This record gives sequence, C-alpha cells and structure tokens, in this order.
Amino acid sequence: MAPGMNQTGEANSNTQQAFIRQLQQTFASLPNEIPLFLFVQKGRDDVYVDACRQVVRAFRELTDKIKIKEYYLDHEMARKWKVDSSPTLLIDPERYNIRWMGAPMGEEGRSFLEAMLLVGMGKSDLSDQSLQVIRRLDAPRTIKIFVSPTCPYCPQQAVNGLKAAIERPDMIALEIIDIQCRPDLAEQYEAHSVPQAYANDVLIGQGAQQEEVFLSSLLKLEPQTIFIPESTAKVVDVDVVIVGGGPAGLTAGIYTVRSGLKTAVVEREALGGQVALTPVVENYPGFAQVGGKTLVDIMVSHALQYVQIFQGEEVLDIKPGDIMEVTTTRRTFRTKTILLATGATHRHLGVPGEQRFSGRGVSYCATCDGPLFKGRKVIMVGGGNSAVTEALYLKHMGVQVTLVHRRDKLRAQDVLANQLPQNDIPVIWNTEVKAIDGKERVERVTLFNSQTGETTEMDVDGVFVAIGYQPAVALAQKIGIELNEDGYIRHDAFHRTNVHGIYSAGDVEGGYKQIVTATGQGAAAAMTIFEDIINPYWKQNKAS
Ligand code: NAP
Repeated sequence: MAPGMNQTGEANSNTQQAFIRQLQQTFASLPNEIPLFLFVQKGRDDVYVDACRQVVRAFRELTDKIKIKEYYLDHEMARKWKVDSSPTLLIDPERYNIRWMGAPMGEEGRSFLEAMLLVGMGKSDLSDQSLQVIRRLDAPRTIKIFVSPTCPYCPQQAVNGLKAAIERPDMIALEIIDIQCRPDLAEQYEAHSVPQAYANDVLIGQGAQQEEVFLSSLLKLEPQTIFIPESTAKVVDVDVVIVGGGPAGLTAGIYTVRSGLKTAVVEREALGGQVALTPVVENYPGFAQVGGKTLVDIMVSHALQYVQIFQGEEVLDIKPGDIMEVTTTRRTFRTKTILLATGATHRHLGVPGEQRFSGRGVSYCATCDGPLFKGRKVIMVGGGNSAVTEALYLKHMGVQVTLVHRRDKLRAQDVLANQLPQNDIPVIWNTEVKAIDGKERVERVTLFNSQTGETTEMDVDGVFVAIGYQPAVALAQKIGIELNEDGYIRHDAFHRTNVHGIYSAGDVEGGYKQIVTATGQGAAAAMTIFEDIINPYWKQNKAS
C-alpha cells in the first residue's frame, strides 16, 4: 500500500507543478497588468478577509502582472469606488466595473482565475452569437450574481457575468456576491438557491445558463430559456417560408425539414402564439399538466433541431410567383412555397380589470382553464356558438356557470341554444360587463342592463370571455388570399389557399382552435407542401 500511495502522491505533485508552470506561462503571455483593489474593514479580519488575502496572494505568486493594493473602508479610494462592504475586491476598476463581495474561494476560485485571465487578455472571449446580442444593449445594466464557494454550477454563471462586464464596460456593472459572506443581500433578493442572477434588480436567471441564453436574458431583462441564433443574411433562399411561430408553424417546420425542404419560420412576436399566454395546458396529449410557456419552450427547442427560426421580424410583403419573394423587416426570402400560420387572437371586452386579471380569473379558453373552476361560480360572456358550447362544457365539468349576453337573442344556433335551459344554465339577457374587480383574483363583476339602465354587482370567481376571434389575416388579404364568410383563410382539405404555392394552417383557418388541432393542421399542410413541390398540382391541372 505505502509505496503505491507514495507513487500516487508524487504523481499528483508532478501534475500540480506542471499545472502551475503552465499557468505561469499563460500569465506571462498576457498583454495587460491585472490591478486588484482589496477593501477591508479596519481591525475586523474575519474568515472572509483572511481567505480573500490568501487567494489574491496565491495568484500574485504566479505572476507579477497582478498588482494588489489593499485599503480600509474609510480610505478615500473606498469613497471613490463606492465600496462599503468587507471584503470587496475590485478588478481593474479604472477599466471595468467588476466587484467581488466575499472571498473567491472553493469553486469560485475557478471564476476568479478566469477573471484574471480575461482582464489580463483585455478581451471577453464571448462567442460570435453572444457578441451580436450584447452589442444590442443600449441601456445600463447592473448585474448581481449570487454564488457560493461550494456550488459547482456557480462559476459558469459568474464567468457569463464577467465576460459581459469586460465586453461592455460602458454599460455593465457586475457584482459577484458570496451568499455566505453577504447573507443580508441574499435575503433581500431572496436568493435562496445559487447561482441566481439579477440585472437592474430583475431576476434574469436561476441556475447556470448557457452564455447566449444569459446574454439574451440580460438584454431582455427577463429569464430566457432558449437562444435563437440571429442571422445577418439579407437574402435567404428556401423551399418553404412559414409565417407564424405558433404550434402550427413550428410543427410544419419540423415536418418540412424532415422531408428535405429548406425552411424558415418567421415570427414577428413571441414564439408559441396564444399558447405562450396560457397559464396551464391540460389537454395536450403526453402532458397531464404543463405551463403554456413551458410547452412552447419544448416545442421551440424541438423545432430548432431542424428549422431556422427568424424571430422578431415581420413579413411586410409577398410577391407571388414560381419563386416568391417574402420581404420582412430585416431581409428577403426567396421561396417556392409559403405557409400562413398567422393565428387568431381572442377578442377582448376592453373593460377595466380584464387585462389585470387575465390568467387570474379572466380566461378566454374554457377547454384550457375550465377544470380550474370546478365547483366555483363563473360567468360566460358572449352569445355565439363559442360562448354556448363553452358554457355547456363548463357546466358538464361541474362549474356553476351563468351566460351573460348583451342582447335578448343568442347568435348561437338553436340546437346549441336549446341546450342551455336543458342543462340549467341561467342566461342574463341585455347585459354588458362594465368592470371586473377583485384583490389578487377575480371576485366580482359590474353588470349593466341596457333595457332597465340598472347597474348591479355580481360575486364570481371567474369570467370567461367568448366574444369571437380576430384572425390575423391582414397579410393574407394584402396578397389576394380568399377568406371565408367568418373572415378566416379559405382553404381546401389539403390546406391549399386560392393562390398556388400558398397554404394555411392553425387558428387562421378557423375551426376548433386547439393546440392539438393546430399541430395536426401544421403537419398536414407540410405534407401537402412536400407533395406539391415534387409534383405541383397547378402544373398538373394545366397539363390535363
Ligand atoms: P361569434 O359567432 O362572432 O359570436 C360572438 C358573440 O359575442 C356574439 O353573440 C356577439 O354579440 C358577442 N360579442 C361580440 N363583441 C362583444 C362585446 N364587446 N361584448 C359582449 N358581447 C360581444 O363568435 P364565436 O361564438 O366565437 O364563433 C366564431 C365562429 O366559430 C362562428 O362561425 C361559429 O359558428 C363557429 N363556432 C362553431 C361552433 C360549433 O358549431 N359548435 C362552436 C364554436 C364556434 P351579438 O350577438 O350581439 O353580436
């Protein structure tokens, strides 16, 4: 045993020495000095101050590029750099705004080493994609990254912050905060797990994030889970342009690329369409219960394995033809086919409280949210087929539902309307909802009877709104796509529109407007597109 242990010990020591020599060489090759300013409280050398001194001195032994200066908190340099906590390390404060609150020990030694090397290099070493994101930052950000010496995931997030601060010293101030040394700050920010990142006091990341995701979160000031690479190409040649990045468009993208067609998905707003706004989805097979945004993230991650997504650009114009030109706010696509999956949005009542309580008692989807109201009292607003169908759905689910309609006659078909009394669903006629009120959630509505002029209040737990949809058809109309009598895109059983080479799928086609039907329509349209590109139906017609 003993000789073996000695050999192992020797081997370890050799490896360590080789590593130290390599570090010394790396530091020697760095072009810049690395000034470190350590601030401590006079007469109060605690464990963090001791550890901090030890770490910086250990690094100092590797290279004379590191220049250490130590000041007390009452020194004018502390006032100059606004330092009031011990120990605080400022790294090259004349060039960067990087402060370390606590000691860079344990796992954080890795982040500190990276910080030294990056500052010595004077470069952030960010990826090209990350550089594209961070260059768009046009307002200051103060980043706080909470870490702990025992957290193996923390260095990744700390290094993300360091790279950002080194790349954009004009905009970014970084604080790396050891939660053990500064429990007061951890408590204030409720950083009960690490790493946790804030920018301008907004939580932008929990856990270690991929560099590009961290920078997107920093730019947008909200936590991102997916990074969509940006393209600078001015002209892109593809087989299919899919307009709309909701479930229909994303599914179609997966299908077309899998059948060998070069495809671009273009989405002007957030990916996922209406689903991204749905609090909980309980009717998408395979997911008993999933947050709408989570489901969208899963779909987007899946789609990104195949298809290029161009998010944040709007399609302005389409020139039909054998090769069509799709002009967006950022580039031109040349394509053989186009799928319009532009979706539809629910009409809103436009009354006080509607927006505030959306997702907290106000719902536009009984199928989605109905089960959350089982045994509770709600109103369904509307008089068309949707309102009646959804009121019946809620009733069958055990919700106490009352229909509120603005006229004395329903627009819904008789066969549906007749089912209201049969199912003991009361109807309040000639009545408009004027306001929705509550504290955290919906508690009551204000109703106005247009016949009597009376205003009343009604206690409810929920307000379902089914007053019709607004399909996003402006682009379709602009290029001569026919709409049906309800204002949705007219299409055949294969999702072909009246313009050859242009197809539709999802909510913009009308119908059931469910996630599962939209994905199905997207898949079906994609298969038609594949068949038509191989063998265009309009050319077959010409030949016959
Ligand atoms: P819809 O037929 O356009 O009906 C909208 C209803 O909302 C109307 O009763 C309208 O009142 C009311 N409304 C509109 N704006 C309002 C406002 N600001 N405040 C209060 N009430 C307002 O819409 P839908 O019911 O969503 O149906 C859309 C299409 O899908 C229709 O073609 C429908 O037939 C079809 N659909 C069919 C079925 C089925 O067959 N089972 C199920 C659902 C939907 P007024 O009547 O006073 O205008």
